Amino acid sequence: MNRPDATAVAAAIRSGALRAVDHARATLDAIDTANPGLNAYHEVFHDAALERAAAIDAMIAAGRDPGPLAGVCVAVKDNIATTLGQTTCSSRMLTGYRSPFDATVVTRLVGAGAVIVGKTNMDEFAMGSSSETCAWGVVRNPHDPTRTPGGSSGGSAAAMAARLCDLSLGSDTGGSIRQPAAFCGIVGLKPTYGRISRWGLVAFGSSLDQIGPFTSTVRDAALAYGVMAGVDAHDSTSAPVPVEDWQATPPADPRALRVGVPSQYLRNNDPAVTEALERALGLLRAAGATIVDIDLPMTDHGISTYYVIAPAEASSNLARFDGIRYGHRATQRAGEGLEELYARSRSEGFGAEVQRRIMLGTYVLSSGYYDAYYDRALRIRRLIKQEFDTAFAQCDVILGPTAPTAAFTIGGVTDPLQMYMNDVYTVNTNIAGIAGISLPGGIDRSSGHALPVGLQLQAPAFAESRLLRASELLERLLSA
Ligand code: GLN
Repeated sequence: MNRPDATAVAAAIRSGALRAVDHARATLDAIDTANPGLNAYHEVFHDAALERAAAIDAMIAAGRDPGPLAGVCVAVKDNIATTLGQTTCSSRMLTGYRSPFDATVVTRLVGAGAVIVGKTNMDEFAMGSSSETCAWGVVRNPHDPTRTPGGSSGGSAAAMAARLCDLSLGSDTGGSIRQPAAFCGIVGLKPTYGRISRWGLVAFGSSLDQIGPFTSTVRDAALAYGVMAGVDAHDSTSAPVPVEDWQATPPADPRALRVGVPSQYLRNNDPAVTEALERALGLLRAAGATIVDIDLPMTDHGISTYYVIAPAEASSNLARFDGIRYGHRATQRAGEGLEELYARSRSEGFGAEVQRRIMLGTYVLSSGYYDAYYDRALRIRRLIKQEFDTAFAQCDVILGPTAPTAAFTIGGVTDPLQMYMNDVYTVNTNIAGIAGISLPGGIDRSSGHALPVGLQLQAPAFAESRLLRASELLERLLSA
């Protein structure tokens, strides 16, 4: 797993010290060796990646600069549209689907010199926290193959953690970048809602979804973020807020940094998670940072609010997959009407968790229940936002665990509600539309395996530079 980070790879390739083709070939070889055990990739683009890498080398030989991601190998979550290969959302519903266009993030990464090496497995339609609902088999955690890499972006996290790419893309609706980053011991950034274009991301909860990178270092997260962020005419929810050059923001001065720690984030964590948080707080304090005790009582209402809003939006977004307009179509039986054909196509195409979400969402939106559930959830959403505003008047960033535990075993969590509780610290970031990041924070050795533990930092909307600078500081303190 000793591989330079993406920033170093791009620098080596741009300077001519490393050939993009050699680097791509080494990456593809590593995938061929490790992927059968991990199931991180659904598809690998051997020929296209080598061809693209050769084009990068040719540009460099001709004295042209391919860009800040020159020759960097990128893995893309399978709910992000690529003209290369399929875009299936790990669902039978989209088996064989080929996108006629690239998502804006893919276009921007490729425009900056990246080489797309493959598509990664995920929880079906990004619903889940363990990558076990993937129609193409479960994904395994590189730190212990009996454990889940987290989810829903588990394939992208596992590919990054096993160094089967230089950076990978995930999507985060309620924690799907940060929780797998925590379980796999890597960096995972969920930017502010609207910061990165969702054009080409298959919609789950449209008011919550954001694309973001998995990387091995904070500077790589900043690099990938910088390339992808910014307004996009194809996505009307992308924000016309200028993207600051994070390097123009001075490095965080710990003596001027106020780190908020909500009391609600300190309960119900495994001992190794508590230990990791305490160690980080000790290091920050010793470096001169001010630790501020804050209160986020709405933390306790995040899961119930999320599991009304996200399924409501999902039931609407997934209505188009009926086998006629989009998606898998069941074989029509003699005399069968359209209603039955829709029902059978959707029953065959969607797995159990997706069906559960659609039913939940349809229920909370139905007349008679709309006010009791959906409308009330929107009111709580406003309170959650207000609570973060109040908190950020007292501190610059909020620190806590990413998840209450390290990675759990595959098959170990069967109760949906228990699974949903994994996201207790991550859902409110999406509900409020602010920015969050998970950093490797420690190791849980209680199982006999060395399992990573993640720490989450949150910052106000559009304060990514602040978030990244604080993350870089914490990364340095933790590794010293
Ligand atoms: N685990 C959460 C869910 O199942 C979050 C998923 C996500 O962020 N895509 O909905």
